[in-house]
Formats: sequence, C-alpha cells, structure tokens
Amino acid sequence: MKVLTDERRCVGADLAAWVALGGGEGLERALADPAGIIPAIEAAGLRGLGGAGFPTHRKWAAVAAQPGPGKWVICNGNEDEPGTFKDRFLLSRTPHQVIEGALVAALAVGAATVALYVNPREEAAVRVLREAVAQWEAHPLLAQLSEAIGENLRLLVVTGSGLYVGGEETAAVASVMGGFPFPTLKPPYPAERGVNGAPTLVNNVETLAHAGQILRGGPEWYRGLGLGGAPGTKLFSLSGDVLRPGLHELPMGTSLRSLVFEHGEGMLGGKAFKAVFTGGPSNTLLTADDLDAPLDFDSLRARGSRLGTGAMIVVGEGTSILRKTAEYVGFFAANSCGQCPPCKIGTHQVSRILERIEAGAGRPGDLQALENLAELLPGSGRCGLVDGAATVLASSLKTFGGEYERALRRR
Ligand code: NAD
Repeated sequence: MKVLTDERRCVGADLAAWVALGGGEGLERALADPAGIIPAIEAAGLRGLGGAGFPTHRKWAAVAAQPGPGKWVICNGNEDEPGTFKDRFLLSRTPHQVIEGALVAALAVGAATVALYVNPREEAAVRVLREAVAQWEAHPLLAQLSEAIGENLRLLVVTGSGLYVGGEETAAVASVMGGFPFPTLKPPYPAERGVNGAPTLVNNVETLAHAGQILRGGPEWYRGLGLGGAPGTKLFSLSGDVLRPGLHELPMGTSLRSLVFEHGEGMLGGKAFKAVFTGGPSNTLLTADDLDAPLDFDSLRARGSRLGTGAMIVVGEGTSILRKTAEYVGFFAANSCGQCPPCKIGTHQVSRILERIEAGAGRPGDLQALENLAELLPGSGRCGLVDGAATVLASSLKTFGGEYERALRRR
C-alpha cells in the first residue's frame, strides 16, 4: 500500500484537494491530544528516513524536554546523496503532506518556527512549497496551532546553498542562519543547540511526511504496513542497470530481490545481477548473496550494511565496481567542505589512487595504501562525509578485491 506516493495524494499546492483527501486530520488529532503525539510516533516505530534510522520519538522527546521559547523545526529537503530522489518528489507533488507532518512535529516539541529547507536546484519544489505555505497561512488550523504552542507559528521556505554538505544537519542549521554550511562537531546535537542556539528538531522530508499519516491512521495501522516486523513503508530510489528505475514506495522489509526483479522488472539487457550500492554510495555494497535480505534498518545492519536513504544503485555484470567506486569517492572529494584535513586530503588521495589503478597505471603499494586509508579515515571528520567515502572504498575492496588486483596486473 502506498501511503505517501499514491497518485491521488499528489495534488501539489492545492490545500482544498488535500483536505478533501483527509488531509489535516493528522494535525487535528494531534491538536486534540498534544501529549499523545510522541507516544504515537514511538508506538509506530518511525525512524529517521534521511539515512541514519535514529528513532524519531527519541529525537522529538529530546527537543520537547528543552526549555523554550524560540525552538525551531527544520524539515531537511537538501537531498543530494547520489542516487537519492525521493524528497524532491514529496516536496513538489505532495507538499501539504510534508507540511502537515512538520506542523505535527512543531506541536510535539513546542517549536514556533518551521523552516522548510530546500535545495535551490529543485526549483519546482521551491515554487510549490511557497504556494503551499501561503495556503496554510490562511487556514484556521494554523491559528489553533499557534494557540496550542503559545507563540505565533511561522512557516518559512528557506533555500540552502545547494551544496551536498548542506544536507548534514549541523550544516543545515548554519545554512538556515544564513551562513556557509560548515558542519560542526556533535554533541551538542541540534536538539540541544541549533538555530540561534535554540533547541532545533532536524528531520528529513520523508520522516515528517510519515508522521502526519501516523497521527491520522494510528500506530497500529502504520506498523501493519511493513513486512517481517519492520514498520511502515519506505521510498526506494531505484536506479542503475534495471529495466524500471524510479521511485518505489514499498513495505519496509521488502526483499532486495523483490525490489530489483519485481518492481524494477529485472536487469537491463538480461545482464546478471552483480551488486547494489545501498543508501546512496556511502554504505556497504550488497551482492547476489544478499538478494533475499529484507530492506529495513535492522536487517541490513545485521548484515554489516545500512539502508541509508533507501537509494539502491544496481550494477549488472560487465559494470566495473572499481570504476563506480572511483566515481563515488570522486564525488565525496569534490564535495568535502574542506575544513577537516583528513577529509579534504584523504578523499582526494583515495580518489587519485583509484583513478590511476582504473587507468591501468597503479603502483606497487596502492592496494595497501587504499586499505590503510579505509581504516584510518572513518571518524576523522566533523560530519559523515569522509566516513561515506571510506565505507564504500572498504566495502568494494572487501567484496570485489579481485577487480583491483586484475587492474593492477594490467599495468
Ligand atoms: P547520526 O547517526 O549522527 O545522527 C542521526 C540523528 O540522530 C541526528 O539527527 C542526530 O542529531 C540524532 N541524535 C543522535 N543522538 C542523539 C541524542 N543523544 N540526542 C538527540 N539527537 C540525537 O547521523 P547523521 O550524520 O545525521 O546522518 C548520517 C546518515 O545520513 C547516513 O546514514 C546517510 O545515509 C545519510 N545521508 C543522507 C543524505 C540525503 O541526501 N538524504 C545525504 C548524505 C548522507
């Protein structure tokens, strides 16, 4: 069952059409029992769908426990992880669903300012959101919300820098304050100190879109949507060597095989399945041995991988993992903000070595150097960018080391 992306829900910036579909009911229920919001989110088992899978109720409770006034909610729509294209769909096609979830969150944590933080490259999303916000501002539910929070609620559309690193949550906070998106060390988490030093809830667009639906349908309904005990649904951004790439909303816990061979309609050109770069390319590769793995946070973690953003970049036989890894590490190198030397220098160094091995110009010691860097780099930056580069490197070395050795022998 599609909760977020059913065609009927994709009414764009038309609040009347959204309300006719039952939109606003989640917020009404939240207003009727504000103290019940966080327990409902906990009972539903909602986790952060921007990639990390952190229990949503814990983050909301952390912000709610901080003193106000002046708290913020940032709805993070910077979305720039390679292969990830879910948030731009929700923001431009069903903006009221996202805004309703953000308003439920604001009530739960006692925040009077909600920033819809969007990547400026997503022009359609920015335009639609501005229209949608103007419609909410005239809706009586917003006045009720202000009364319940005890401050006048402000809904802002904030365009970021368009840089990849601007999606990292502390960088998003800096961006919303008008600065360059330099990530900062955590703790303190934004939940403790965020925009203007005030407690700030930063949640991904997809997480917030689910939150409004949970309030409307109830936690039991939501839990029942998933498979094998995993709750809810997930948006999978499927790309690469499949016949039907695109956005697929499926039960959380759907197997990789079902995603690729049923919903993705199988491999392009009849190629054999080789691997999947998961969660964007910042995680551990899945291979043919993992085809029956349920795609949910806990099942993938148990296999040493991660669900991440739900991006699945499929690779068929004949596509070089070494080439793809070089491309992804190159992306991280180009997008490092440059303030942490191990990230700035390390990602470039890995990228250089990968490119020369791939070009058949590898040197003795290159493989050892890559292995050393994969071990040294994780945890050396203020944010997870360098960890992403190191993880995909380590995983491709471990799983497809033969490709590296063959390329080195080619020299
Ligand atoms: P993280 O594990 O550091 O934190 C997860 C969330 O939990 C954060 O919001 C953090 O503030 C919160 N948190 C953790 N402990 C807390 C506490 N004690 N109190 C209050 N809040 C607490 O992860 P992260 O660095 O925010 O995100 C990493 C993930 O982002 C990766 O898994 C990757 O898949 C994903 N990612 C997504 C995109 C995208 O385009 N959506 C891009 C790059 C990376």
